[in-house]
Amino acid sequence: MIEICHMLSGEISSLEVINENTVGNAVKNMIPLNQTRVVVTDSHCRAIFDSADQTSVRDIYVLFPEIIEALEINDVFTWNYHAGAMQSYAASPIIAYGSLRGCVYITEYDTTQGALIASIQYSIFLITMILEIVVIFFSLFSSTTYARRLRKILTSIRIVRDGDYSHKVMLRGNDELNVLSNDFNDLINRLQISENKRSQFVSDASHELKTPLASIKLLSDSILQNNMDDKTIKEFVGDIGNEAERLNKMSQKLLTLSRTDTLVENDPSIVSPKATIERAVRMLSATAASNNITIHLDLQNDYPLLIAEDELYEILFNLTENGIKYNAPHGHLYISFSKENEDLLIRIEDTGMGIPEESVPHIFERFYRVDKARSRSSGGSGLGLSIVRNMTRRNGGRIDVESILGKGTVFTLRFPIYSQKEEYK
Ligand code: ADP
Repeated sequence: MIEICHMLSGEISSLEVINENTVGNAVKNMIPLNQTRVVVTDSHCRAIFDSADQTSVRDIYVLFPEIIEALEINDVFTWNYHAGAMQSYAASPIIAYGSLRGCVYITEYDTTQGALIASIQYSIFLITMILEIVVIFFSLFSSTTYARRLRKILTSIRIVRDGDYSHKVMLRGNDELNVLSNDFNDLINRLQISENKRSQFVSDASHELKTPLASIKLLSDSILQNNMDDKTIKEFVGDIGNEAERLNKMSQKLLTLSRTDTLVENDPSIVSPKATIERAVRMLSATAASNNITIHLDLQNDYPLLIAEDELYEILFNLTENGIKYNAPHGHLYISFSKENEDLLIRIEDTGMGIPEESVPHIFERFYRVDKARSRSSGGSGLGLSIVRNMTRRNGGRIDVESILGKGTVFTLRFPIYSQKEEYK
């Protein structure tokens, strides 16, 4: 339309006289006027020519925005879509010999294009409707599926809450609910394992408590039922006392074990392991002497540890006590410190009976004893090494054991050496 405007304005600007007739002839020669209306104005917006008959604006000042803009020497094109038809407007200035003579204004009323737009509009509406229905259908479908799957998980939670740890959530798919149900199943597995451990522990503990209690009962019944002389009564009462002492020790160890089982914060401080081991050895020197065990200390590599001191003492005491208890008569116990990378290694090596290969993986288990009779007679409960392992781990350490049957056993503790730099971390 701008091209047509240019052609018309070029033609009009070449006319000698610009009036309704000359312009009308030029326009009719150049374009068919069946769908197009042409208005030509002078430079003051007054219409010189209008191709419309009934609504003609001839001799009227036409202040259409396109005309005003064209008279400001611009080419203008606008369009709109209204009532099923497309209406386009274009205008261009007429310039002759360098001065503005007016403008050409064309409008086109196109119902074919309008119909096309209407059909596109209808198609878009139809597609939108279909899409909306599909979206509503899918959201309904997925929300009911989601709710059904969520209900499945909730039901499982209730089943497990009521104590059935063997229950599992079975969900198909690969979304967040699946991740949730897998995590839930994992959690249940762990619960089941810890529940099994707990009931095993309770049954082991009651079994262990049963023996000394039965002995106490038997001894006291014997005192009551038999006519015994004072010396035998004293002996029996002494035995009752020993059993009671064993029970007392065991309950203390059980308490320690349950304390170290939980991850309750311990209270670490900077500790010299040399001082701690010397204290433990001092406490056990009488036992060592009565068993004729010689203790050799090599504690030059005394590096500081950031550790709960009472727990380090308990660890070293238990291992040293075992090294004495399970040693051979006139045996030796070697305790030494060494440094490996950033760790302090504490070796506790005895020359005792050793541990059979098949028993080594079990010695840190609760109530596990290689030789029940011997351990019991020496006051053992099978809890010491469990406590040692728990405490070592709690304090960031590791414990390893090597043993040769009939030759001896080496326990190696490994703790990170405390360095002052850590304080600034
Ligand atoms: P206990 O109170 O019976 O000594 P522990 O947990 O300390 O319990 O040890 C578990 C078992 O490991 C002991 O009963 C013993 O059979 C074995 N054991 C521990 N230390 C040694 C050692 N130094 N030499 C040989 N056997 C040992």
